[in-house]
Amino acid sequence: MTALILSGREAAASVRTDVAERVGALAERGKGVGLATVFVGDDAASQVYVRNKHTAAAKAGMLSFDYSLDSDATQGEVEGLIRSLNADPAVDAMIVQLPLPPGLDGNRAVQAIDPAKDADGLHPFNLGLLVLEQPGPRPATPSGIIRLLEHYEIAIAGKVALVIGRSFLVGRPLALMLGARGIDATVVQAHSRTANLSEHARNADLLVVAAGRAGLVGADDVKPGAVVVDVGINRTDDGLVGDVDFAEVKEVAGALTPVPGGVGPMTIALLLHNTVVAAERSTA
Ligand code: NAD
Repeated sequence: MTALILSGREAAASVRTDVAERVGALAERGKGVGLATVFVGDDAASQVYVRNKHTAAAKAGMLSFDYSLDSDATQGEVEGLIRSLNADPAVDAMIVQLPLPPGLDGNRAVQAIDPAKDADGLHPFNLGLLVLEQPGPRPATPSGIIRLLEHYEIAIAGKVALVIGRSFLVGRPLALMLGARGIDATVVQAHSRTANLSEHARNADLLVVAAGRAGLVGADDVKPGAVVVDVGINRTDDGLVGDVDFAEVKEVAGALTPVPGGVGPMTIALLLHNTVVAAERSTA
């Protein structure tokens, strides 16, 4: 069996078309849509992610504002910048590019964001709305994964989903979203202390891997026909790879996301979606 390749580029294009239409509708009412990014330090990979977000925002017809601070910025400076963006009417939503350099507290920085301007859906208020299954901005990567599955009409109600990883950015909110009413997967969450990971993985109808460990999941860890979503981004001598051995697993899985071109484009698309929704709410 060769897996169906789940193209994040294709699914993201449809989300971005919807976003661009909504940005256009706001523009007709005289409302511009603005996304701000807060970047601290000089990490080259993070700089690329931030640049990609600006390019995508511009393509969707949004204004984007690029705020960079040196790696010796203080926590007070970072939070002061965030508070000034909270007060800026041209900024509908913002992201703080994580992780922050050593010595700075990313959680506290995120808590300084006005929850109504939280493009990444990571503020504790918005994570609380997720737990309560109330509407609110959802973390971009997990909601991108859900949209990708919806795009390919992959139903997971009643199926067993294993999420490998428990970060507040990806694994933990994704497990909540997959288990929420309306999606209805039976969720198992694995992490670095999980015993018999391979056994859990082989039992999963949907396997989402967000550990940041190249080669963590091979063909022997996958139930034949399972849907496998690879979130990992690892820089190796062979270039960018995910956490899943793509060549092996595509012969066993029923569907599989590539790296790059899988979850990454969905994350950016859902960030834009959260931004336009924040702009719509601000004018409602
Ligand atoms: P993280 O380091 O904060 O968390 C990693 C998680 O994986 C932890 O919960 C840890 O317990 C678990 N883990 C680590 N090694 C493990 C092992 N051997 N077995 C089982 N669990 C293990 O990372 P993160 O921010 O959640 O990101 C995870 C990966 O996803 C990274 O490679 C990151 O670059 C990537 N990522 C991709 C996107 C995207 O848009 N494609 C977005 C965010 C993160």
